[in-house]
Amino acid sequence: MSDLQAESTEVLQRLIRFNTVNPPGNERAAIQYLDDYLRAAGFETEQLAAVPERPNLIATLDSGAPGPVLGYLSHVDTVLANPAEWQHDPWSGDVDSDGFLWGRGALDMKSQTVGEVVAAAALGHSGWRPGRGALKVFVVSDEETGGEVGARFLTEQHPDKVRCDYLLNEGAGAAFELDGTRYHGVCCGEKGIFRLLLRARGHAGHASLPRNGENALAKLAPVLSRLAEAQPGVTLTEPPRQLAAALTGTPAGDVDADTVAETLKRLAGVDPVLPALVEPMFGVTLAPTMAHASDKINVIPSEATLKVDCRVPPGLGPDVALAALHEVLGETAELVEISFSEEVYGYLSPPESPLMDEIRTYLRKHDAEAVPVLLPGYSDSSWFRRAFPELIAYGFFPHHQMPLTQVAPLVHSADERISVRDLGQATEFFHSLARTLLA
Ligand SMILES: [Zn+2]
Repeated sequence: MSDLQAESTEVLQRLIRFNTVNPPGNERAAIQYLDDYLRAAGFETEQLAAVPERPNLIATLDSGAPGPVLGYLSHVDTVLANPAEWQHDPWSGDVDSDGFLWGRGALDMKSQTVGEVVAAAALGHSGWRPGRGALKVFVVSDEETGGEVGARFLTEQHPDKVRCDYLLNEGAGAAFELDGTRYHGVCCGEKGIFRLLLRARGHAGHASLPRNGENALAKLAPVLSRLAEAQPGVTLTEPPRQLAAALTGTPAGDVDADTVAETLKRLAGVDPVLPALVEPMFGVTLAPTMAHASDKINVIPSEATLKVDCRVPPGLGPDVALAALHEVLGETAELVEISFSEEVYGYLSPPESPLMDEIRTYLRKHDAEAVPVLLPGYSDSSWFRRAFPELIAYGFFPHHQMPLTQVAPLVHSADERISVRDLGQATEFFHSLARTLLA
């Protein structure tokens, strides 16, 4: 066992024992612990807070010479956990005899916080300093409810303190195997969120005389069944285009809907779980989630609404969301009025960069390949990419032992745990990356 594995295991156990379930978060004690840890290693540290109990940590190791700023970003808040559903207490940090460390945040994402922080501190303690530029460690609060007092606060209120050229954050890194090759995703962007409100109108009436009114709720039925049956066609952006190219051996320029179908078919052959994880990268998704009609059981509703959670590939906007909706609804779109209740663009970093080259080189040493992917959901990288358009930000934490099909279902679920060997190897990755990129 390497020194970095032993150290990162101990620090992750300690970090998991801070209960940082958000809401309310209460990240202050965890942030203070990491602040002390990095300051002892020679980092200059500063805490910035929008709310006193929820500070954010910025730790800097500066070369004093001009050059790139490499940022290691993570959040210490977690989603909730119900101990009754777990085999180990979610705040125990237990390590079992198979080498798994248990607890809420073991994957999302206290493990990456620890990988980044322990790597940075080991560099600091060893006397290493960047040859140029600076290494900055950002540990933030409040990611799980959107980053209002975390990454959003930092990038909007203190951009000069968190400006960077390269950023590593959560989003990908677990592997899957296809035709004898092991592929690790590197997350290059997050999808945008364009939430739709569909409203049907009718006439109210007494429910004892059903033919007397015009039931707005019934008008939603054909709309809802279309949404249940179909998803929009393929809308390609660069990272998934390269993913499909790599997995099918097709030149990136020739990737089309057929290549995407072939990609998903191949992944289904590996594990039936994989297509559901990968398919949303290839286009717009529509998920009806909330409906409302009459407030009284004996009144025929004059109005009925349906909310649809719509996710759009990064860089694309409401026009693409609307086109996808019309594609699925067809003529049933005439039954409803359509408007947006929320519009948030997704952001993208180019999949080719010096940072990607370093990740690729690292993975090849472990006989694996890097493939660009998109995150169907949200991460704090969005706030950083929005604030710094030139930034290269990727989501990457390498898992060599636990495959993607094991990691993905455990995030936000009961029995969240990580292989301590993965934790140690990821810490070694963050350790070597800073030395190479800031040499
Ligand atoms: Zn997370």
